[in-house]
Amino acid sequence: MTFWTQKTLAQLSNTEWESLCDGCGRCCTVRLRRANLRLLTRLGCPLLSPETGQCSDYANRHERMAHCKALNPENVGDWLPRTCAYRLVKEGKPLPEWHHLVCGDRERVHEGYSVRGWVVPMEPGMDPMKHLVGHEEG
Ligand code: SF4
Ligand code: SF4
Repeated sequence: MTFWTQKTLAQLSNTEWESLCDGCGRCCTVRLRRANLRLLTRLGCPLLSPETGQCSDYANRHERMAHCKALNPENVGDWLPRTCAYRLVKEGKPLPEWHHLVCGDRERVHEGYSVRGWVVPMEPGMDPMKHLVGHEEG
């Protein structure tokens, strides 16, 4: 069932909404806006686990981290990574072949698309500009 091609984000049930997240963890990394570029860094939220690539305290994330933004259909936008499933659906684009709803395997995202294994939890004093890994336009 390809509910994500048949409904808008606002029409998704809670279960469908939750299932859309691919677990990449990229929205939890530090990205810097410079003119029309978004600079991508290997630094992540202090709660983002390098071992799992997941939030280590998802249930309490908003209480623990003031910057942690709750996604909703209205605020999904270009502040999210280009591969974010919510952004892709909102923009009417297809999910990538490695998304679990497409391939049926939740581990595929960790074969080069998630932050697992390379993200570094941000600590006070760290300079994101010294941890750049790439950029996105727009
Ligand atoms: S607290 Fe929020 S930003 Fe930080 S790792 Fe968890 S979900 Fe991501
Ligand atoms: S970038 Fe999007 S798909 Fe990836 S973890 Fe964040 S919300 Fe989920």
